[in-house]
Amino acid sequence: MEFKTADFAPTNGNRISNFSFDEIGDDHFYTGLETPMKSDAFEMSDLEKKEKISDLFAQIMDVMGLDLTDDSLKGTPNRVAKMYIEEIFSGLNPANKPKIALFENKYQYNQMLVEKNITFYSNCEHHFVPIIGQAHIAYVSSGKVIGLSKLNRIVQYYAKRPQVQERLTNQIAMELKAILNTEDIAVIIDAKHLCVSSRGVKDDTSATVTSYYSGVFEKPHKIAELQNYLNQ
Ligand SMILES: [Zn+2]
Repeated sequence: MEFKTADFAPTNGNRISNFSFDEIGDDHFYTGLETPMKSDAFEMSDLEKKEKISDLFAQIMDVMGLDLTDDSLKGTPNRVAKMYIEEIFSGLNPANKPKIALFENKYQYNQMLVEKNITFYSNCEHHFVPIIGQAHIAYVSSGKVIGLSKLNRIVQYYAKRPQVQERLTNQIAMELKAILNTEDIAVIIDAKHLCVSSRGVKDDTSATVTSYYSGVFEKPHKIAELQNYLNQ
């Protein structure tokens, strides 16, 4: 991709819904449920990706004037490349999706199951700085149950992508619906965006809450019951 000086100038021709990128600024629009990926996203091996990212990150550091011969800095491009592919963006690759086994609902438990305070670390796709938060998940079994640690793994898989919080919330909900074969799903995410707290408007105390409710969780008394569990 080639950048033009105009892309960084105060105004440019790129617009979403009649707003220019400048007007949108830090308002974190997103365009859909699926993470926008190129069709050839996985033609390159992870090893090739790491080598390429390392070269490119070294160029970024070089442009900023950092001395890459310094002992403290010279390993950074490799470390960043490894971290991107193997850790913080590993959820882009479907090969890393957790394998989920379901069990018969032997106890005939037919009330909501709530797994709360699932801590996750993600990254804002608009600034590539951390989003740190907690996810709360609830579902009512349609006959199968899922291992509790697997709920956590699903959250971590989708968090390990460049994300926006609304999409993260919806992607987790869609995955749970598909796996558990039920509409009775709730996902609530409460997160702090470092692009808001450490830069831009520098608001250190605000948090963003997003939610997805479907099936029985669209009923006000079920939402109230869930909120009650979350507040305990
Ligand atoms: Zn951001």
